[in-house]
Amino acid sequence: MDKKVYEAMNDQIKHELYSAYFYLSMSAHCDAENLSGFGNWLRLQAKEELEHAMKFYDFLLDRGEKVALLAIEQPPLKFNSLKEIFTQVYEHEQKVTALINAIYAKAIEANDYASQTFLHWFIDEQVEEEKNSSEILAMVERAESNVGVLFQLDRKLAEREED
Ligand code: MG
Repeated sequence: MDKKVYEAMNDQIKHELYSAYFYLSMSAHCDAENLSGFGNWLRLQAKEELEHAMKFYDFLLDRGEKVALLAIEQPPLKFNSLKEIFTQVYEHEQKVTALINAIYAKAIEANDYASQTFLHWFIDEQVEEEKNSSEILAMVERAESNVGVLFQLDRKLAEREED
């Protein structure tokens, strides 16, 4: 594999694992605040991020490359509001989209067609991730001054199940 594509994909394993860590920290915060629906949504999101990391992990192994696991940064431990949490989720997903796009650009430059095809799934997934997080952020903003709406939203997010 082209060195730049390889390094970007190997790095992406760390970024996806960090995403899992980040959302799990948010999930723990929500559960501690008795917002178990938000906690449930974020916990499943963390699980999905772990699956994203494993897709890159398996792809590198399938291509005969080494997986080099890098240090994962500590996520924030304190969050002040749901609005802050979902603003961070949305902004984080935008960053991940930029990372995926950058890997794709490298795969094009390297004429690495297998990597391009592999990345299509992630490009589509990021559209979903940005859509979902921005929708929840918009609902949280609407619910800010209305506890009834907030608990309704918490119940709705409690319904999320594993795919
Ligand atoms: Mg991801």
